Amino acid sequence: MNYNIAVLAGDGIGPEITNAAISVLNKIGKKYGHNFSFKQLLAGGIAIDKTGNPLPDETIEECKKSDSVLLGAVGGAKWDTLPGHLRPEKGLLKIRAELGLYANIRPAKLFQSLKGACPLRSDIAEKGIDIVVVRELIGGIYFGERGIKEINGETAAYDTEQYSVSEIKRIAKIAFELAKKRKKQVISIDKANVLESSRLWRKVVHELAKEYPEITVTDMLVDNAAMQLVKNPAQFDIVLTSNLFGDILSDEAAMITGSIGMLASSSLGDTTRGLYEPIHGSAPDIAGQDLANPIATILSCAMMLRDSFSLINEAEHIEKAISEVLDKNYRTADIMSEGKTKVSGSKMTELILSEI
Ligand code: NAD
Repeated sequence: MNYNIAVLAGDGIGPEITNAAISVLNKIGKKYGHNFSFKQLLAGGIAIDKTGNPLPDETIEECKKSDSVLLGAVGGAKWDTLPGHLRPEKGLLKIRAELGLYANIRPAKLFQSLKGACPLRSDIAEKGIDIVVVRELIGGIYFGERGIKEINGETAAYDTEQYSVSEIKRIAKIAFELAKKRKKQVISIDKANVLESSRLWRKVVHELAKEYPEITVTDMLVDNAAMQLVKNPAQFDIVLTSNLFGDILSDEAAMITGSIGMLASSSLGDTTRGLYEPIHGSAPDIAGQDLANPIATILSCAMMLRDSFSLINEAEHIEKAISEVLDKNYRTADIMSEGKTKVSGSKMTELILSEI
């Protein structure tokens, strides 16, 4: 089969990690008889430098024509002082909206061989962490009405959290469908004791839950969820959240698994075309030094193979190769611990390729 993949390498470590992932996809393609074609496109700071626009029209059009999209990361201090609509992150929000990607799926799993890197107490880490955060991605406060106004002679700024029934329903459906393939548990996060939008969220989730009698649904207030994630992460399986709460909780879930350089994500909508990216940013502090851990991006490609192309064996092959390299005690700097062998980002890619 032929698969056309749009690649938005972006800024900082983006080019290094997407190149690593491309080499892994090429190797898997050779092994299983698939042809992956890659089209490099501009997005983020580099797109601002070259075109004055963080997401040029050509990038949007090519992504829409592709079978799936691989994104590195965007952003950096150089563009931080630009007005909001010209920031690299604006390009990211726009591509998600343009492709109708309303669901962000972020697995946060503690690899057996990386238990030592978990910042939680060992008796908590021992119970394991295997969470999937399902975050609404193109609604809520990040897209709601906003502005700056004068109140009583001083400047005030506002952003609006708003969710419609259909927006809540479609993201909840993704969570329930995923839960069917896992432990059949959904914890739905809200702030229903305070927010009107959260009360509607809770109501819609419970309505939909009636169609999934095999799934256990539990409501949890977001402040409690933030505590429970560090106190007893093993209680979580699928975490269903709005855009804002998910942004924060998914980073917390990522952190407790040891390294931000290990975690993949996908953004999905109603078609098989998804956008796959590591959860970390462009890491300008280590860019160009061959220090970046490529595993999150390579795992994002495994998610692409499974969720967009239904290539299950190929996805598992990549995941197994990564586990084997970790079991052989090779570590990039971000996941290094005593007694392990420290390797560069490119060496880590080489090791994964040879394991495949
Ligand atoms: P970051 O994720 O880029 O970096 C946080 C820390 O983690 C840094 O010390 C970095 O060196 C380290 N790190 C990140 N990825 C790593 C990897 N693969 N291997 C080893 N270490 C890694 O977050 P930040 O520093 O807050 O943000 C830097 C820039 O990235 C900002 O401009 C921010 O807006 C942007 N950002 C982009 C995205 C995205 O493109 N999806 C997400 C988050 C942040």
